[in-house]
Amino acid sequence: MEDCPLFNAGIGSYMTLDGKLEMDALILDGTTMKAGGVGAIRNLINPIRVARLVMENSQHILLAGEGANKFAAAHGFHQVDPNVLITPYSKERLASAKEGKAIFTPPEKTDITEETEYGTVGCVVIDKDGHTASATSTGGINGQIAGRVGDTPIIGAGGYADDQLGAVSTTGQGEAIMKSLLARHIIDVMATGQNVKDSIMHCVTQMDKRFNGYAGAIAVSPKGEIGIYHSAPQMAWAYVQAGKVHYGFHSDQHVTEEL
Ligand code: ASP
Repeated sequence: MEDCPLFNAGIGSYMTLDGKLEMDALILDGTTMKAGGVGAIRNLINPIRVARLVMENSQHILLAGEGANKFAAAHGFHQVDPNVLITPYSKERLASAKEGKAIFTPPEKTDITEETEYGTVGCVVIDKDGHTASATSTGGINGQIAGRVGDTPIIGAGGYADDQLGAVSTTGQGEAIMKSLLARHIIDVMATGQNVKDSIMHCVTQMDKRFNGYAGAIAVSPKGEIGIYHSAPQMAWAYVQAGKVHYGFHSDQHVTEEL
């Protein structure tokens, strides 16, 4: 998904106010409880691969900025020309941020068409042996100040995974997500026995009220139950279960196809 210019991750990421691209990513393995993240990394198509490298080949969890880029380069990731990552839509969105459109405001529902944007990308998985994982990758928020790191690479905010509890990936307004530790909150509510979608809805609604934000999340429980909910106007989603693919452009839409 980072390779696809329609998403706000890798190619097609939002731009910083000074016209650059800085991306965040996080990966968690719910079996080993290992994690790796990158913050404000530049000029790479696949930040999630570097996050995985941090998880597997370093003693740390989160590398940011120049250090993250140097770590990636030392492990053979070649930097790309920033123009490879910037799309006409990224430029258009930055221009609208400069015109004074609030950067924390999601596009109006009426502005959204299937051609506009698909946002940050996140993924949660559980396999037949109950192993879970979560991965999230983003270009951040349109027109963010250079150096901003959002919720995505923060464990418990942008994602969480633990085979005993389930896996979550979040998207939305990062400052509110960080303050409410949204991913971990969802996991904790799931642990009380609440169904997955209701757990997400409860935590997102509380976060919106308390921190004046908007968010969406996908989650899977240790039993393989799936939940999707968003308060942002749109969040394209898809899952595969028992040989069928299910997808929608927002949570009211549910299309099912045989694989
Ligand atoms: N949560 C991301 C951030 O604040 C943005 C997003 O999910 O769209 O950086």
